[in-house]
Amino acid sequence: MKRVCLLGATGSIGDSTISVLKQHPDRFQLHSIAARDNWKKIAGLAREFNIKRICMFSETAAKELSKELGFPVLAGMDGLLELATEGDVDIVVNALMGAVGCLPTLAAIEQGKHIALANKETMVMAGPVIQDSLKQHPKAFITPIDSEHNAIFQCLAGRPVEEVKNLQITASGGPFREWPMEKFASIRVEDALNHPVWSMGKKITIDSASMMNKGLEVIEAHFLFHIPYEQIKVVVHPQSMVHSLVQFRDGSLLAQLGAPDMKIPIQVALTWPERLLLESAHLDLPALAKLTFFAPDFKKFPCLALAFEAGKLGGVVPAMMNAANEILVEAFLNGNIGFMDIPRHLETIMARAPTIQGRLDLSHALAADAEARKIAVSLIN
Ligand code: MG
Repeated sequence: MKRVCLLGATGSIGDSTISVLKQHPDRFQLHSIAARDNWKKIAGLAREFNIKRICMFSETAAKELSKELGFPVLAGMDGLLELATEGDVDIVVNALMGAVGCLPTLAAIEQGKHIALANKETMVMAGPVIQDSLKQHPKAFITPIDSEHNAIFQCLAGRPVEEVKNLQITASGGPFREWPMEKFASIRVEDALNHPVWSMGKKITIDSASMMNKGLEVIEAHFLFHIPYEQIKVVVHPQSMVHSLVQFRDGSLLAQLGAPDMKIPIQVALTWPERLLLESAHLDLPALAKLTFFAPDFKKFPCLALAFEAGKLGGVVPAMMNAANEILVEAFLNGNIGFMDIPRHLETIMARAPTIQGRLDLSHALAADAEARKIAVSLIN
């Protein structure tokens, strides 16, 4: 029986994780849960699964929930870290949104945990720090939940990096794939929230529309799989059935296909290398009839080009880009900036990134994150 700590229990990955856990009550026990502020939903989960270890990131929400449940509820980053490092926990599912997910991942690595990682910002912000920490704590390991990285993880199946020619990360292309570039300046929030395939949180849906999500995934893949940026490609694949591919040096191209249902990568991340029965949609190839693939358009989607650039520049540039992007996406959602202001401001902010001597450490990444947020706010105003 594996005890699971689920950070980010109220979002879409949280929902899917819970439905996977429910299918395997003999294998997994939901031991602890955390969320930002949706304490009512957490109260329901606490009762359903009889959970006593809970953290609300928002202090106010923690107080409300504690009143509701009649026992203490942890709060803030300290609470997240306490849950992520608890001795009783075998697997930490990190489905937190944004840069907040970074410290709990590191803390769980230090305790030798298995981390099922959905929080891509962890790797983007502090990839080298995570790599170093994994080396120092060989009992700890990460299995990726993000569908693309989970696909690559399955295709790689532990083969050494020398055998890999390239990683090919697929992208749906988002809602604007076929829009002419002239219309991009007038993109509205509701257009950008209308994702053709996946139903996800707002932040990641906007990132998918700008293709920044794919850019973040390129950086995540670089750090997760130790593959240079020159060997990472993005392939637009509107049907989102091929979740990513690995080309090996002998010319073999392995792909992972599946219905666009996050329960599949979540279960693989939890049970790897075993494969258990899962009730989920299964692909029927003749019914699909046609799968198509295109090269990405870096001109229409400058965020994708910026992310490659940030990755190659390294140091604190990815952390700054990621933090600024969070602020800019929020400003776009609130109607304060236009869609194309996101890449425009990101370029300005990345140009202000300081150079780091030597290997990135956590204090650099956190300081850069804070600085980028400040610059982003000033550019918006
Ligand atoms: Mg993804």
